[in-house]
Amino acid sequence: MRANNQLLNYIDGEWRTASAADALEVVNPATAEVMARVPLSSASDVDAAARAANAALAGWRRTPPTERVQYLFRLKHLLEDHFEDLSRTITMECGKTLVESRGEMRRAIDNVEVACGIPTLMQGDVLEDVTSGIDELMIRQPVGVCAVIAPFNFPGMIPFWFLPYVIACGNTCIVKPSERVPLTMQKVFRLFEQIDLPRGVVNLVNGAKDTVDAILDHPIIQAISFVGSTAVAKYVYARAGANGKRVQAAGGAKNPMIVLPDADRESATRIMCESAFGCAGQRCLAGSLVVTVGDARRTFTEAVAEVATALQVGDGLDERTQMGPVITPQSKARIEGLIQKGADEGARVLVDGRHPVIPGYEHGNFVRPTILQDVNPAGEIANTEIFGPVLSLIHVSTIDDAIELVNSGRYGNMACLFTRDGAAARKFRYEAQAGNIGINIGVAAPMAFFPFSGWRDSFFGTLHGQARHAVEFFTQTKVVVERWG
Ligand code: NAD
Repeated sequence: MRANNQLLNYIDGEWRTASAADALEVVNPATAEVMARVPLSSASDVDAAARAANAALAGWRRTPPTERVQYLFRLKHLLEDHFEDLSRTITMECGKTLVESRGEMRRAIDNVEVACGIPTLMQGDVLEDVTSGIDELMIRQPVGVCAVIAPFNFPGMIPFWFLPYVIACGNTCIVKPSERVPLTMQKVFRLFEQIDLPRGVVNLVNGAKDTVDAILDHPIIQAISFVGSTAVAKYVYARAGANGKRVQAAGGAKNPMIVLPDADRESATRIMCESAFGCAGQRCLAGSLVVTVGDARRTFTEAVAEVATALQVGDGLDERTQMGPVITPQSKARIEGLIQKGADEGARVLVDGRHPVIPGYEHGNFVRPTILQDVNPAGEIANTEIFGPVLSLIHVSTIDDAIELVNSGRYGNMACLFTRDGAAARKFRYEAQAGNIGINIGVAAPMAFFPFSGWRDSFFGTLHGQARHAVEFFTQTKVVVERWG
């Protein structure tokens, strides 16, 4: 990768220079090396992509689903062949460890595999004789040109929550990756080039806010799939909705992990730390609050601190690294500022990861694992998505207090419970207000054949990414009532 390498858009089956006035540097968060420049594509670039996608629509829709999935089979094999290179690219632009990047790419490929089931997934319903001699059919048809707008923290996986289903359902697509991590999708689109899709079926447009606004306002684009922070998700949902588009918009999170006194000490500690510090806490499913119930405070506080202190922090490309950097220097400064804010609000900084020195990586955006103890449940830290390796500990007396705490937060992406008690687990599953629930699991990430749920301020819309929800989102139902002779 070269620092002066200006990335291209992929529109209508060819690589094109964006008509952008500006570009941003793409920087490796561990080394501060500039790897490329990403153009901030203009409305006319978006327009060219939308027109190309629209022109491809009629032919692609008529391509039988059984043929459409043949392209996905080829893509799956190419993704496997380039698995290691794509994983390394994710690590270099996003910072996470190679193990985490490989896990991410695996989840991306899982979605290609599930979308290959479209000849079954897309089927409708028929009922004969709704009244005597009259039959009724419900069929699913593609919605048209769809756009996918992705965040920085999963440059490989998140576009695949949507993209394979978009095209398998007979739609055409525009992908707008995060401007901070555009390199993985550049490589993925080099693979798309090799599967010989008809021109215009998939398009890649780089950019940031103005590019997104052009997508949200473009009259040709019918459906928007967004993943990012809550403030932007709300904005995208409102603006695209006002323009008459269907929208699914996933937002931020603050995920509590409740630990009961009977939980297994060793495994629960390991799983909770993996959840809090994996991907340097930059996961929408990062467990960022541990709520100890009763005696669990005594058992788990020191155990969690011990594991956090021992984690090996460094460049994700080094196989020994257990936690990489955060995405930008601004992000590092914000996280360190929030740690101070927690202390100002009365929390004890049990493990302080601010301003670490990582030999050989002095310019990287590193924050070591940090633990704040006795965090004020009503304070800013307990309720703000820090999106960094910071775990807050809160103590309550009963499971009911813990569930009340879960349900009083603004987000609803994930809530987890650690226990050996089945009745407590059922109560939690039943009452906790979150779209993804983990029982003795710290990152309750739905597999590709389940929807990636999310409630309250973590999701705006009704149908989520992945599997059947994606198929329903990317198709419109048509009902036909028939009488013959
Ligand atoms: P972000 O909201 O800053 O950016 C997401 C996308 O929106 C990017 O493509 C960006 O270019 C665009 N964008 C940014 N600001 C915009 C604006 N003002 N107007 C229009 N478009 C804008 O999010 P991020 O920092 O890239 O990603 C981290 C966030 O994403 C976290 O809040 C995390 O929880 C969330 N996230 C949620 C899920 C989920 O499934 N709920 C999954 C992954 C990440």
